[in-house]
Amino acid sequence: MGRLLSAVKRIPGLIYPAKCVSCGELLSDGGEVFCRTCYDSYENAKQEECSRCHKERCRCTCPSFSLGKAGLRRLIKLFRYQPAESDLPENRILYNLKQRHLKNVFDFFARELSESIDAALGEHEKATAILAPCPRSAGAKRKNGYDHTFLLCRAISKVTGIPVFSGLKRKRGGKMQKRLSGDERRRNIVNRFFIKNGDELTGKTVILFDDVTTSGATLLECRRVVKVAGASRVIPCVIAYSGRDFVLRPQKSRKKGKKYLRPIRF
Ligand SMILES: [Zn+2]
Ligand SMILES: [Zn+2]
Repeated sequence: MGRLLSAVKRIPGLIYPAKCVSCGELLSDGGEVFCRTCYDSYENAKQEECSRCHKERCRCTCPSFSLGKAGLRRLIKLFRYQPAESDLPENRILYNLKQRHLKNVFDFFARELSESIDAALGEHEKATAILAPCPRSAGAKRKNGYDHTFLLCRAISKVTGIPVFSGLKRKRGGKMQKRLSGDERRRNIVNRFFIKNGDELTGKTVILFDDVTTSGATLLECRRVVKVAGASRVIPCVIAYSGRDFVLRPQKSRKKGKKYLRPIRF
């Protein structure tokens, strides 16, 4: 009965009237997950202008500062978020995605991310694409009862037709990333992932998916093992990232007057 009730609860508006996932207001105006006010705030975050390419965040593929510094050229995402502002609608929906198994939230993000993925990939990349979710720790899966990155990849796959690779695995042990500093995160994550059925990745364009990225440590380590397994290219994809933009500006070297590119800090 408990299982049936929790399944029924996931169908929005069937027993419980659908409410805004951010402020709890009844969704009387046809909103899927947000009321009008919260949706506007979310859209503003998506449409914020990237300071590097000047496109809106959800269409720009510039890397975050930490990923750009590590040499990555692309990052597909929907918006940049402020971790400290937990009351913002875009932060509250992320919380809902991780903590409450709501079908309308998964469907909403699947559609949103499918559009950004479609806009970011070239024709050859689309033809060879495969979605690889960064796996949660066993502790997080036990606590929430599900792995939201894997389930979201399956939902994206239904919209785009891109298959999901489930062979990127995480070893047991290690500390929770969110409680650690940037350097500690990088040290904690090294050699924590491994690949099963790696031949499925040979020659593929791997869309490496994580919900959010801060230090970039998880994405970089997963990218490394996916590359070693034979992927021809790896494009990280997240719902949101935090931190500065990665902007390059030509600067003159003091020694030889040569121009080189230096990241600008914001
Ligand atoms: Zn609202
Ligand atoms: Zn950009």
